[in-house]
Amino acid sequence: MADQTFLNEINKRRTFAIISHPDAGKTTITEKVLLFGKALQQAGTVKGRGSNQHAKSDWMDMEKERGISVTTSVMQFPFNDSLVNLLDTPGHEDFSEDTYRTLTAVDSCLMVIDAAKGVEDRTRKLMEVTRLRDTPIVTFMNKLDRDIRDPMELLDEVETELNIMCAPVTWPIGCGKEFKGVYHIHRDETILYQTGQGHTIQEVRTIKGLDNADLDAAIGESLAEQLREELELVIGASHEFDKELFLSGELTPVYFGTALGNFGVDHMLDGLTEWAPSPLPRQTDEREVSADDEKFTGFVFKIQANMDPKHRDRIAFMRIVSGKYTQGMKMNHVRLGKQVSISDAVTFMAGDRERAQEAFAGDIIGLHNHGTIQIGDTFTQGEKLKFSGIPNFAPELFRRIRLKDPLKQKQLLKGLVQLSEEGAVQVFRPLINNDLIVGAVGVLQFDVVVARLKSEYNVDAIYESVNVQTARWVNCEDEKKLAEFRRKCEQNLALDGGDNLTYIAPSRVNLNLSMERYPDVQFHQTREH
Ligand code: GDP
Repeated sequence: MADQTFLNEINKRRTFAIISHPDAGKTTITEKVLLFGKALQQAGTVKGRGSNQHAKSDWMDMEKERGISVTTSVMQFPFNDSLVNLLDTPGHEDFSEDTYRTLTAVDSCLMVIDAAKGVEDRTRKLMEVTRLRDTPIVTFMNKLDRDIRDPMELLDEVETELNIMCAPVTWPIGCGKEFKGVYHIHRDETILYQTGQGHTIQEVRTIKGLDNADLDAAIGESLAEQLREELELVIGASHEFDKELFLSGELTPVYFGTALGNFGVDHMLDGLTEWAPSPLPRQTDEREVSADDEKFTGFVFKIQANMDPKHRDRIAFMRIVSGKYTQGMKMNHVRLGKQVSISDAVTFMAGDRERAQEAFAGDIIGLHNHGTIQIGDTFTQGEKLKFSGIPNFAPELFRRIRLKDPLKQKQLLKGLVQLSEEGAVQVFRPLINNDLIVGAVGVLQFDVVVARLKSEYNVDAIYESVNVQTARWVNCEDEKKLAEFRRKCEQNLALDGGDNLTYIAPSRVNLNLSMERYPDVQFHQTREH
């Protein structure tokens, strides 16, 4: 039996990420969440601090210029009786691979919707990803200080477009200039909104009950009457919160507010810490691993370079699945079959790197990586396990990469292989020549790669177009058939950064023909690490 302190540590953890369309307010909400978590003294400093910290590195400069967040960071803070881990995801579409993998490391998600716009493209895509694991979703309708769409219509849209039932927990009173606050359906109280308090935790005024003269006095008789009528309708027509359905990803509690005005974010955090699951089990090739298993296990879902320009190292982000990490402990690096001693893992208290003394299932720790750790690697206390479900996606964009100075070919290859281990980009080496082909999911990744090759590996590289349109990882159980396929299709085959055989097709027609011609060969659009 695991001891009670250990179980308490695990049960109080909530590990989540925010999914949203760019501009819906993810960064602003993150700031307010950290403000409530007492991790920030004043909201409005997340972006500022980031840019100081990254000032020295070229590719981060690029990120700053374009106003996008390329990096994923992890922030830990206490709220109510919980310890919350918030994993930031890159918002820009070009970095969606990173986002997908980050979503494998959380137990719940906060979906932020711009209430003036409703369900947008990227939210739709990210919701599809969360569906693969039935991740529980909490919803925040943002920007109530603007003129928004009809709230009932917004819920309808979420239900039909995202195929998830909505259970409003709060209900807005007016919007835009007339935004008065929200009525909390579960607490039967109205929480009044005040403007101009976006940077601090507000002193709020609450009014108990709906049939309360104070409410009429505070928001006006006609608005109060309208609210009572609307709520009757809403409560009749919408779903009631149900924890089971929430945990199975079928129903989402919905909150309304304004991140900029710092209103409603705390209601959402109350719900999230109360209902969102503590660390969930994860599947391996052998068995399911439960969080309260005392033996330590974890997997790496992201590798990132140069987080701190002073230490030019790479950090492997590991989600602890079970047990407890303590400083100096020995872990088994399963893929290499090696024991490693981890003396200096880092934790992420509100974005600052700190040395971790101990960490528990549900937490993320950062391991210093000198090239031996790859995305998808499993670490245990001896057991031979491999966590499954951490994907690589077949790239859709390809370019040949060339050096300005041909003598640096070795460095170029080393740089590309390391960047591909990080998942920043994928690299393919055709079987028939010495080309290096870079494959990416989004076009911005190409620029990042050239900037980083220059700053970290001191090589000047340029791109040329290449006649590749799509790629598939291939394998075949029958060795003879595979050998024949290799021989016949040699001009379309390449090895990726991890030496996996890949079919690089000049066109989709060509790919389809080969798939028809070699039915025993499997063509995969994703590759599990
Ligand atoms: P992200 O791209 O999802 O991270 O969105 P940001 O947090 O950067 O917000 C995008 C823009 O919307 C910024 O100009 C914010 O100031 C603004 N914004 C965020 N929340 C609100 C809100 O509640 N009300 C209003 N009016 N603007 C907001």
